[in-house]
Amino acid sequence: MKEQIKQLSAYQPGLSPRALKKEFGLDIELHKLASNENLYGPSPKAKEAIKAHVDEVLYYPETGAPTLREEIAKDLGIDENRILFGAGLDEVILMISRAVLTPGDKIVTSQATFGQYYHNAIVESAEVVQVPLKSDGQFDLDGILEAIDDDTSLVWICNPNNPTGTYVTHDALEAFLEKVPSHIPVLVDEAYFEFVTAEDFPDTLKLQERFPNAFLMRTFSKAYGLAGLRVGYIIATEEAINTYNIIRPPFNVGRLSEYAAVAAYKDQAYLKEIQQKNAEERAKFFEIPQSKYFFDSQTNFVFVNTKRPHDLYKALLKVGCITREFPIGVRITIGFPEQNDKMVEVLKNFDFEK
Ligand SMILES: *Cc1c(COP(=O)(O)O)cnc(C)c1O
Repeated sequence: MKEQIKQLSAYQPGLSPRALKKEFGLDIELHKLASNENLYGPSPKAKEAIKAHVDEVLYYPETGAPTLREEIAKDLGIDENRILFGAGLDEVILMISRAVLTPGDKIVTSQATFGQYYHNAIVESAEVVQVPLKSDGQFDLDGILEAIDDDTSLVWICNPNNPTGTYVTHDALEAFLEKVPSHIPVLVDEAYFEFVTAEDFPDTLKLQERFPNAFLMRTFSKAYGLAGLRVGYIIATEEAINTYNIIRPPFNVGRLSEYAAVAAYKDQAYLKEIQQKNAEERAKFFEIPQSKYFFDSQTNFVFVNTKRPHDLYKALLKVGCITREFPIGVRITIGFPEQNDKMVEVLKNFDFEK
């Protein structure tokens, strides 16, 4: 066993609804609102595509998901050789870390962000610098700039950030990129991109024209509703893609996953509906006075700050909603209207001052 992985542990999923019912003695239906999945599911066209191709599962997939790559490249007006797919963004993060990091290297990111940047860096014996969040839950880009030094080989910016839901603006990201040395890749994780409604959210693809080291990452797991099929991708320079591609397992994106993702990507009208429903439901949370305890959100979840996360978690569980506890609060995935209404009631009656 590598020495450094002794300090890590395997991913711990939350308790299943069945286990939770038993532990808390609950006799109601429980809804999983802990992993930011899209409860409405994927476009019906994605489901049709899965059925249409089901007899082909005996064959290995085409390596590199070429049909999906072509579709996205065409849509975004970029060269196909600048896109690489992983079995979810989780695998993209793993491939980049594995391809780049050596002992003595540093990654720089924020505290309270997606855990896989840290996890994969430690596996590769790299050092991790985690700059504290600002008090409003945002990434401290100035602090991150200060932390970048000669040993820094990757910078991870989660935008919008999981678990806080906050985002950095186009202007802020641009000013940041102007100051980061151009040989250091800045990996902008836009897993929640499709839920964003803020007008000043970065056009990272545009920024890439001026800053080729601004790499951007997106996934089919969140708004596209295909978390179970595992498809995510990075758009970077051709040179970087060629490097990461050496690490990629030959058949990492499954056949049905690729076809479903193509169909889902083509159905932008469905995606627009999802974005609208999510924005309406998200607004319900921010209409209540208690929203002063929440971080702003551009995603399909709301982060609630409280000194008693476990009490809030339990109160939400009692109305049938499984959320995710953190040391400084609770992250609530926005669900169907019925669940959101119940959760809003719980939040209205929760004593945040205690
Ligand atoms: C969910 C999530 C991912 C991982 O997504 P997959 O594509 O399902 O592996 C990556 N980054 C962030 C910020 C996420 O929230």
